[in-house]
Amino acid sequence: KESNTKESNVGKIKVVVRKRPLNRKEISRKEDDVIDVHNSQFLTVHEPKLKVDLTAYVDKHEFCFDAVLDEAVTNDEVYRETVEPIIPIIFQRTKATCFAYGQTGSGKTYTMQPLPLRAAQDMVHLLHQPVYLSQNFKLWLSYFEIYGGKLYDLLSERRPLCIREDGKKQVCIVGLQEFEVSDVRIVKEYIERGNASRSTGSTGANEESSRSHAILQLAVKKHIPVTETRRQRDREANEAKNTKLVGKLSFIDLAGSERGADTTDNDKQTRIEGAEINKSLLALKECIRALDNDQIHIPFRGSKLTEVLRDSFM
Ligand code: ADP
Ligand code: MG
Repeated sequence: KESNTKESNVGKIKVVVRKRPLNRKEISRKEDDVIDVHNSQFLTVHEPKLKVDLTAYVDKHEFCFDAVLDEAVTNDEVYRETVEPIIPIIFQRTKATCFAYGQTGSGKTYTMQPLPLRAAQDMVHLLHQPVYLSQNFKLWLSYFEIYGGKLYDLLSERRPLCIREDGKKQVCIVGLQEFEVSDVRIVKEYIERGNASRSTGSTGANEESSRSHAILQLAVKKHIPVTETRRQRDREANEAKNTKLVGKLSFIDLAGSERGADTTDNDKQTRIEGAEINKSLLALKECIRALDNDQIHIPFRGSKLTEVLRDSFM
């Protein structure tokens, strides 16, 4: 969503559905493929044959989206449909967010994982264009997790973080490490390092990672050259003071949408996590609804997740 404009939000939210192929388990159980992708915008969901008697009066539902990608679509095509078009506007003072919503096992991580690296590749390329080179634009990366309503830096030994708002209503995550990246290989290393420290350290363990939101941010910043005299005066001033945020692209691998149902679980910890995930996904839905309705007030205070995204909602 573009910032600093009062124009309508219509067209600023893009909803893309990706259909994944049936997995081995589903095939061995002879489950039905209930989704038909008609064209690039429509799909139909059929009721599974087993339930046909329960749904005698309605057996299929049609849905329309900004784009529908079928199971033959590659991750690179997903990138080109969703993220690629917004890369240039990040360099023009825009904050955008890309996230995957769905149940555990629906393909969120599979879909989200390659996107930041591809985006960084294109962003690094843009940085080297004369127009941006001359403006001293640089790319910065940060990667953190929201787990049980708390923030942890995935690139700094899971250091706990907190959110603060600065005078200009910019979100500030206190203590979050940001790294300047000018090379895609380095971006890859940071992403891998961050993935390895996702909750309870068990990378790839769907069970665990599906209980947290992982947020990777690529920020474009303008570096303001400091004169020698000023440099002397602010000898203590750190790098951050001499940079100005231009635009930001956030990627979120959301917790599984079914996790809210865990509130009935016997295990206390699981129940608390479930309630927290429920709250944050609901808060996200409310913010998106408010954006879609062109509401001036966006209820971003509903959860840590939406607080973090506050400046992307403005
Ligand atoms: P989630 O993160 O939503 O829990 P995953 O991304 O871990 O789901 O996907 C679950 C499984 O399905 C993984 O083994 C993944 O490799 C596979 N998968 C997901 N989407 C696709 C796809 N589009 N094509 C092939 N395999 C997929
Ligand atoms: Mg996942």
